[in-house]
Amino acid sequence: MEHSVFRINQAGYAAGLPVIAAVLAGDTVTLEDREGNPIFKAEEIRTETDEASMDSVCLLDLGMLPAGEYTLCCGNERRKIFVRAKAWREVCSALIKGFYYQRCGCELKKEHAGIYAHAACHTNPAADWADRTVRCLVTGGWHDAGDYGKYTGPGAVAAAHLMYAWKLFPAGCGDSLNIPETGNGMPDILNETKYELDWLLKMQRPNGAFHHKLTKDHFAGFIMPEEDRDPEYMMPESHCATGAACACMALASRVYRPWNEGFANAALLSARRAWAWLEKHDGDFTPFRNPEGVHTGQYGDRKDRDERFWAACELFAATGDEGFRKAAEDLYAEGQQLTSFGWADVGGLGALCCLADLKEKAGPVLYEKMKKDFLAASEAPLKTASESGYGTALGKDMYGWGSILTIMGNAAAMILNFLLTGREDMRNAAMNQLNYALGMNTLDICFVTGFGEKRVMHPHHRPSAADGIADPVPGLISGGPNKKWTYPATKEKLGEDTPPARFFLDETPSADTNEIAVYWNSITVFALAYFNSCSMPE
Ligand SMILES: [Zn+2]
Repeated sequence: MEHSVFRINQAGYAAGLPVIAAVLAGDTVTLEDREGNPIFKAEEIRTETDEASMDSVCLLDLGMLPAGEYTLCCGNERRKIFVRAKAWREVCSALIKGFYYQRCGCELKKEHAGIYAHAACHTNPAADWADRTVRCLVTGGWHDAGDYGKYTGPGAVAAAHLMYAWKLFPAGCGDSLNIPETGNGMPDILNETKYELDWLLKMQRPNGAFHHKLTKDHFAGFIMPEEDRDPEYMMPESHCATGAACACMALASRVYRPWNEGFANAALLSARRAWAWLEKHDGDFTPFRNPEGVHTGQYGDRKDRDERFWAACELFAATGDEGFRKAAEDLYAEGQQLTSFGWADVGGLGALCCLADLKEKAGPVLYEKMKKDFLAASEAPLKTASESGYGTALGKDMYGWGSILTIMGNAAAMILNFLLTGREDMRNAAMNQLNYALGMNTLDICFVTGFGEKRVMHPHHRPSAADGIADPVPGLISGGPNKKWTYPATKEKLGEDTPPARFFLDETPSADTNEIAVYWNSITVFALAYFNSCSMPE
């Protein structure tokens, strides 16, 4: 299998969208239908070197195919591909359910979690790191990643990805995830997101700021969460956490209003209090640093101007208040990265708010001007993708920790471009990022647990390692290859000469290449929800 000449989307292809596969041989390729009839033939394929993997590769566009089973043939090699209506419903639902498996502070019951059931974890009150006499019950939320920490900014960004997936592409989000709230009248993607939002509200301090994170002073060993009983602490407040949570809560106030007026009001009040704190602390930004003696994730963002920008956009959208529009315009004038959707750079979420949601209502600066700027900026990921042999929107020197975030963030940017322009080159390039995540990559691996014939089996994820079950918890996406911030052990195993896109170990200790994280799941859900919503059969 390692030497297969084909790299395909192992979760299948969607009827109604182009079928694209990678071939690593300058030979003749045919596609046969189920009965063995050739329906496509490409001769003398010209491969080119993909610099990130050093593979000699060519992307084959097989056009749109009716639902069915097909076989790609090249010499003696044959590989089955599947084309289905609503092809990515299942993987999208699994990625949303992945958040359920990350729930903290509650029992995961057998009826919802099956073999991955476990007792409630992290249910004790937490002390304030700076003043241990202050203790609060701050239970709930999602474990952030492979560890058991809960981080405000990353959690707020993940929740926002999911809320926008629902807001923009409701038909693509699936439903009936079999979570405890299923059937309560609210869509399950919003039920799941609310589990995080309820926790986020508890992370707000009386002064309006948000604690940066809720963690222990060190990472747990590879034990089940309910066995992790050392004390947790509310770590100091931070500007970035407060900005991201402010934006997220303002967005939540709009998204949840039709179902839960009380919650929508509480969310908006929280956002306003956070904004008041941000205004009071406009000039005193310092990046969050772990206090002395704390060794959990730092998420030390170097600036808060993008979080403030996103928050102002969302508060304007939630209230219509001209003061927030003015604030957003002023922050926009400072320069914002409109194609970034990660935990650190959140400018893309402000762009989503104004360009995809508010549209003309955002006004001449936040719509007309921003649209022009965004369309120009989103040419960059398309260019990167077109220069990659696999169509991957990541330059060869950009394979860092959680490379999947940049790749799927670029997919989100190209989807937003398509929504604004209808450009098919943008949409197809965005789709190739999904193809990458689901198997069309040099490693021939599907990065989502539970999917693909060649799949991730040993993610850096404590429950998956500690539960004694061979298969990892399903519906989690691996961060993927990372040659920039690599552990010495990974470097030693792979060697300096291994190309960046191959710098990956499907091994539990390799947090540097094979961790999971909620905001990698959520940005992938966003892209999948879009393609699910537009890939209905004709
Ligand atoms: Zn927990």
